[in-house]
Amino acid sequence: MEPKELWTGLLDLVYPTRCAGCDALDPHAFCGACRKELEPVRDIVCQRCGQPRVDWETPAGHCAACRHPRAFDQLRGAYVYSGPLRQAIGALKFRRRIAAARALAELLAEAVAKAEHLSLADLPLASVDLVCPVPLYPKRQRARGFNQATLLAEPLARALGVPSDPGLIKRIRDTRPQPGLSGDDRERNVAGAFSVVEGQHPIRGRRILVIDDVVTTGATASQCAAVLRQAGAAGVWVLALARAARPTEGMPPSA
Ligand SMILES: [Zn+2]
Ligand SMILES: [Zn+2]
Repeated sequence: MEPKELWTGLLDLVYPTRCAGCDALDPHAFCGACRKELEPVRDIVCQRCGQPRVDWETPAGHCAACRHPRAFDQLRGAYVYSGPLRQAIGALKFRRRIAAARALAELLAEAVAKAEHLSLADLPLASVDLVCPVPLYPKRQRARGFNQATLLAEPLARALGVPSDPGLIKRIRDTRPQPGLSGDDRERNVAGAFSVVEGQHPIRGRRILVIDDVVTTGATASQCAAVLRQAGAAGVWVLALARAARPTEGMPPSA
């Protein structure tokens, strides 16, 4: 552990409630200022992948990412990946600020509780049988010490009253990090990177909810859904805590 991480870890012990977005001392998971900046996803341009509408001139239904085949029934993000949410996810993943995991799980639970007002309303949350996280490659998970998607999936599964199986999908190939790759490169990078491990929970005939921390184009989520479908899943939906709002690539520039 780096000295800075140790220091932050000690701060977490002494002051268990610092804002996950800006590190300010605050009794809440996110301070008032950061909370105001959180953007729940309400309007989307794509019914399939739930891409947030960031540009009001974009007609609904046009989605560059979903020109690629998508194996999930639907994908939805709870919040736009920006500002304090982006900071908190970065702190968890890259500075191992474990306390942020609780704040992020609370944020996800909050979005699920008011799903009817958000784009999450399209997910059949009340009727899924099983929850599982998007896995990390084992070597990457050992280096990080945890899978952030598992830390989100487990409390959510408890709230939904269904089991969570962190080992249901396995990453069988180490892939390059998706950020920085173009849409087509993202598809190629994760093709064939996953398989399923059927043990504890059968997949055939089950309705499965896959959880991830951040989704950008949905390429990774779709590969996870594809292996679940091949194993006989009756339906696969994806819920991401954060949904990156992409520029509307492939769209003609508006006048
Ligand atoms: Zn804050
Ligand atoms: Zn789409």
